[in-house]
Amino acid sequence: MSAASSYLNSPPAARIRIVLVGTQHPGNMGSAARAMKTMGLSRLVLVAPEKAPNLESYALAAGADDVLGEAATCQTLAEAVADCRLVLGCTARSRRVALEELLPRDAAARAVGEAAGGAEVALVFGRERTGLSNDELQLCHAAVHIPANPEYSSLNLAAAVQVLSYELRLALLEREAAGDEAAQGGERRDPPASHAQMEGFFAQLAETLDAIDFHKGRAPDSAMRKLRRLYLRAGLDEREVRILRGILADAQRMAMLAGEKRGSA
Ligand code: SAH
Repeated sequence: MSAASSYLNSPPAARIRIVLVGTQHPGNMGSAARAMKTMGLSRLVLVAPEKAPNLESYALAAGADDVLGEAATCQTLAEAVADCRLVLGCTARSRRVALEELLPRDAAARAVGEAAGGAEVALVFGRERTGLSNDELQLCHAAVHIPANPEYSSLNLAAAVQVLSYELRLALLEREAAGDEAAQGGERRDPPASHAQMEGFFAQLAETLDAIDFHKGRAPDSAMRKLRRLYLRAGLDEREVRILRGILADAQRMAMLAGEKRGSA
């Protein structure tokens, strides 16, 4: 079955994954699995953990050894979220990143909304000592901060997973109670564009802006950051990305022709 049609047959929770990046204490992976299972979540992804799950992890997972045992392992965050439409990075440090910052409740509402529409969603958690790197946060569409005591704002990793899982649970229950719009014949869209498709689009956009000399000597980074925010906020589907890439391809072709003309004049 294609991704486009299968999503209506599985619950939104099945499209939400919890991603732990570079976890240092094996026990935290077990506690995180337990936190997830109590809230009805089961998809755990481990990105380059310092140690593989061990006896301590399984002891702390208690009855959630299935979640831990079935966890996928990846080498990089990019790989762990390549098929995701929405990637939310949880950070203990408020307002230190150039990303939109969400409260857990708003993050959960957005995550469940996307998952109910068929998109894959990731909530990403960082290392115990250093959190997520700036490069890792760049891969996220928004940051999530639990508004803890500003003088002591860093929760234990599994405790942070618990807070976000609880908010996801509330949002999922609320949605269930309201009745799934799609099931009642709501408007169907093309499948949401994946993270990898959006990155392909951004790469072509950057090339095109160069080709049409958009930056005129200014540093391209700031414009690209703003454009990324704009297009990520729009929640594009696959067809919309294809249309935009078609426009870029034409602009690139015209820029090339104009260059050739100038060259031969
Ligand atoms: N010393 C690290 C804290 C890491 S705590 C730092 O300063 O970044 C491990 C992870 O738990 C964090 O990367 C984050 O994903 C999550 N976390 C801890 N406290 C949080 C909070 N207040 N809001 C959101 N996520 C939090």
